[in-house]
Amino acid sequence: MPLVVQKFGGTSVADSQKILAAARKAVRAQQEGNQVVMVVSAMGKNTDVLVDLAHQISDHPPAREMDMLLSTGEQVSVALMAMAIDSLGCRAISFTGAQIGIKTDSTHTKARIHSISAARMRQALDEGKIVIAAGFQGIDEDSNITTLGRGGSDTTAVALAAALEADACEIYTDVDGVYTTDPRALPEARMVRQVSYDEMLELASLGAGVMHSRSIEFAKKFSVPIHVRSSFSDRPGTMITALPESPGQPVSGATLVKNEARVAILGVPDRPGSSLAIFSKIAARNISVDMIVQNVGDHAKADISFTVLRDDLVSTLEAVQEAAAELGAEGVSHDDKVSKISVVGLGMATQTGVAQTMFRALAEAGVNIQMITTSEIKISVLVDRDQAQNALRVVHRAFELEKEPRAAAAQSADATRLPGPKVARDEAAIVARLSGMEDLTIDDMMLDDTQARVTIGGVPDAPGMAASVFEGIAAAGIFVDMIVQSLGRAGHANLSFTVPQAALQRAVATATELAGQFGCGPVTNSPRVAKLSVSGIGMRSHTGVAIRMFRALSEAGINVAMINTSEVRVNVVVDGAAGQKGLACLQAAFADAQR
Ligand code: ASP
Ligand code: MG
Repeated sequence: MPLVVQKFGGTSVADSQKILAAARKAVRAQQEGNQVVMVVSAMGKNTDVLVDLAHQISDHPPAREMDMLLSTGEQVSVALMAMAIDSLGCRAISFTGAQIGIKTDSTHTKARIHSISAARMRQALDEGKIVIAAGFQGIDEDSNITTLGRGGSDTTAVALAAALEADACEIYTDVDGVYTTDPRALPEARMVRQVSYDEMLELASLGAGVMHSRSIEFAKKFSVPIHVRSSFSDRPGTMITALPESPGQPVSGATLVKNEARVAILGVPDRPGSSLAIFSKIAARNISVDMIVQNVGDHAKADISFTVLRDDLVSTLEAVQEAAAELGAEGVSHDDKVSKISVVGLGMATQTGVAQTMFRALAEAGVNIQMITTSEIKISVLVDRDQAQNALRVVHRAFELEKEPRAAAAQSADATRLPGPKVARDEAAIVARLSGMEDLTIDDMMLDDTQARVTIGGVPDAPGMAASVFEGIAAAGIFVDMIVQSLGRAGHANLSFTVPQAALQRAVATATELAGQFGCGPVTNSPRVAKLSVSGIGMRSHTGVAIRMFRALSEAGINVAMINTSEVRVNVVVDGAAGQKGLACLQAAFADAQR
C-alpha cells in the first residue's frame, strides 16, 4: 500500500478548526488507499511563547531543560490531532519523538538525528491507524529529550519519509508553494511548479524561508521528492525534486537578504594561512559568515571581504581586529547598511551571459554593486540597503521570473503521487543508511586547471562597471566562470574573473581596453590558475567547511588567490602549479565526509 507523509506546520494547526481541517486531509488520503503518517508542529506561535517564558525565568536557561520545555508544544498538537481523527471516526495514534525511536546526539536545541526505528510506526500503520508523529524532537542515548533546531519539523517529516520509503512527502504550510522570490517583498513573484534540491538549498537559507535547509539536504541525500502546498486549499503546490522547473531557464529564483554587514580586511599579507587565521577567529565566536570574497590585491597584499548578519557585526569586528593585528594587515573597514541580492538557477551552469544580464539590470537602475561572488548556480551581489528593494525588482524582471517558462515542467496538475525509485524494504539496511544521515557529505571535489585569471584593479565604485566589463568580455566571445569583486581602498573595487586559458590573451586585451576607457587599472593576470571546489550537502549546517579547506591548503603551503562561497560550495583559486597537490590535500582533509 502506498505511504504518504504529511507534515503540518504551526500555522496549519493554530487552532481547533485548523487541526480538524488537517485531520480531514489525512483521513481523505487514507480513504484514497494510502497509509498515512502525519508530522505535526506546535500550534501557532506556541514554540515562541515557550521560548519567551523560559527567558522570563532565566537569561541562560539550561539547554537540556529548554528541550524538555519546547518539546511539549508538539506533544500538545499530536494528542489533539489524534483526538481530531478519532472524532472523524478513524483510528489514529500519536507518538513523541522518543516513542518512534528518533535517536539523536546530545546537542540540545540543535540535535542531529542518528537513527530512526520504523518498526513501531509500521505496526500501527499495518493495524490501519493514522500515525501522528511529533515533529522537531528526539531522544539521546541517555533518554534525554532533544530538539532539532527551530523549524525542525520539516526535517522530521523528510527523515520519516526516507526511513519509511514513503511514496510522497507533503509539506502543508501557509503559503501555496515556493515562489520566484518572496511575494511579500515583490507582488509579481510567481509560484513555481517545480524547483530542484540544489536551487532550493541555495534559496532556502537566503530568505525564501519556506523550508528548513537541513530538511532539503536530507531530501536530496535520500531522493525524497517533496510537495510543498497550502493547508488551506487543495491546489497543487511546488514539487522539490532533482530537476528544475524548466531546464532552459538560466535563473529560477531571486532572493534578498536585507540585514547584512560587510567587513573588509585590507592589505592582508598574501601568504598561506591568512584566511584561516581570520575565519577561525570568527568561527570561534560562533558567528556564521556568509559571502566570503578574497581578491587579488596590489603588491603581494590581498583584500579579504565577507558579510555577516548585521546583528553579528560587533563581535565579528572584535575577532577581525585581533586577526588583522596578528597578520599585520593594513586596516579593517565595515558597512552595516548593505543587503544581498542573489539569483539562483541550475541553468546558469551551462549558459553564458547570466551575470551581465544581472549587472546590466542593476546598472540601469543606478544600483552600485559593492561585492560579487558566484558559484555554479548562484550569483550574489551586495548593494546599499536603501536600494535593495528596487534591485530585487529589476533583477527579477530582467530574468522574466514573473512569466511562466515556455517549456513548463512535465508535471501533471495533480502530481501528488511521486514516482520514486522503489527499493526493496530491508529495515536493517535503511537504519544503517540513516545512521550516517546527518553527516556532512561532500558530493564533489574538483580541480579545474584549465583556467586563467584576469584582475582589473582600481575600478571606480560606481554603477555600471561590472555590467560594462562583462558585456565587453562576452562580446569578445569569452566564457567567464568565477567572478569576484571586492571593495578595496579609497572607494575602488578589484574585479577578478577566470576564463579559459586559451582565451586569456583576448580577455586581457579586452580588459585593458575597458580599463583605459574607464580610467582604471592596472590589469593583471595569471596565465594558469587552478580552481579547487568542494561542494556538498551539510556545508552550511556543518560550520567550518571553508575553514577546513583553508587549513588543509595552508598546511600544504598553498596560497589562496581568490575565494568564492555559496550555500553548497566553496571555490578557491590557487596557483596553477599547486592544483594537483591542493586537490590531494583536500581529499585527505575531507576523506571522512566523502560519499
Ligand atoms: N515548533 C518548532 C518551531 O517553531 C518546530 C517547527 O515548527 O518546525 O521551531
Ligand atoms: Mg516551521
